[in-house]
Amino acid sequence: MHDLIILGGGPAGLTATIYALRKRLDVLLITRDLGGKTNYRLQLPFVEKHLVITGEEVVSRFANEVEYLEFARVLDKAVKVTRLTNGFQVETRGGQTYEARALIVATGALGQRLQVPGEQEYMMRGLCYSAVSYAPLFIERQTAVIGDGALALRSTAELARIAAKVTLVAPTHGELDTPMGRRVRASKNVEVLEGYKVQAVKGDEYARRIVIAKDGQTRELEADAFFVEVDLVPQSEIVAGLLELDAGKHIKVDARNRTSAQGIFAAGDVTDVISEQVLISVGEGAKAALAAYEYLLQQPD
Ligand SMILES: Cc1cc2nc3c(=O)[nH]c(=O)nc-3n(C[C@H](O)[C@H](O)[C@H](O)COP(=O)(O)OP(=O)(O)OC[C@H]3O[C@@H](n4cnc5c(N)ncnc54)[C@H](O)[C@@H]3O)c2cc1C
Repeated sequence: MHDLIILGGGPAGLTATIYALRKRLDVLLITRDLGGKTNYRLQLPFVEKHLVITGEEVVSRFANEVEYLEFARVLDKAVKVTRLTNGFQVETRGGQTYEARALIVATGALGQRLQVPGEQEYMMRGLCYSAVSYAPLFIERQTAVIGDGALALRSTAELARIAAKVTLVAPTHGELDTPMGRRVRASKNVEVLEGYKVQAVKGDEYARRIVIAKDGQTRELEADAFFVEVDLVPQSEIVAGLLELDAGKHIKVDARNRTSAQGIFAAGDVTDVISEQVLISVGEGAKAALAAYEYLLQQPD
């Protein structure tokens, strides 16, 4: 039985793994990939790299280290977690089972796709998925946000402080009547196109316009960038029966990254901690590893 199993090898899981290794824990990282969502990077003709806080250096350093330390990682998908009397058992898609006395869940949250022609082609080339990361690049630019939930409104409000114009393409009335919705609608440089659905993304080397439709009528909307801001889906289902989630399916954690289940810790985008950012996930991963370490020190051998 291992001391600790970490599920997910994005910024949170990689950092937790490195911290656990430094504490000489017998740790195993089970992950589909190394790097998680940091494997996506926005490309635009006018990007000034220093304006984006990517956390790239720390994550790629940890990923390289874990890649080298083969004994500490398994590249597989965890499909089931079961509580044992003295720990947990994790089953993987590859048919293996692993056991540990404690668990850190760092499985992230997935962005939802538009599922329209052109999306795959222009993903991260003018079609963006993280306004919180990239908004500072859009000084005096034309931008569009797609979505009608809290994330879309927050992103529109953030871009409206920087960009010349933000067009919010809202498929439904969504959260437009909330305080944030009213604020967005009152902004001079925001236009709300309510009831429109995206049909396609078009462009050259980069996305230049989207085709949108309402009541059978289509039109095209041009912009320097299009932000798909549909609420992320936390990848928490694997432990959903073991611990407490919030209404958005994020794993609830306390200030020490403890979940409601003893011996299970969580970190990064899968938790209810504010804001999906690499440096936040790195910090949360470090905290979770140290909290798990302290927990293990208190367990009988
Ligand atoms: C397009 C895009 C661009 C971004 N740009 C920036 C940026 O410039 N700066 C910034 O700070 N933030 C950026 N972000 C946000 C940032 O990438 C995330 O906040 C961060 O990666 C979250 O780290 P995480 O470790 O919690 O989760 P993730 O990075 O999502 O990693 C989760 C990991 O868990 C693995 N996993 C999931 N389920 C399982 C399972 N069942 N079994 C095994 N493994 C599993 C995944 O394969 C992955 O390795 C961006 C996000 C997106 C989508």
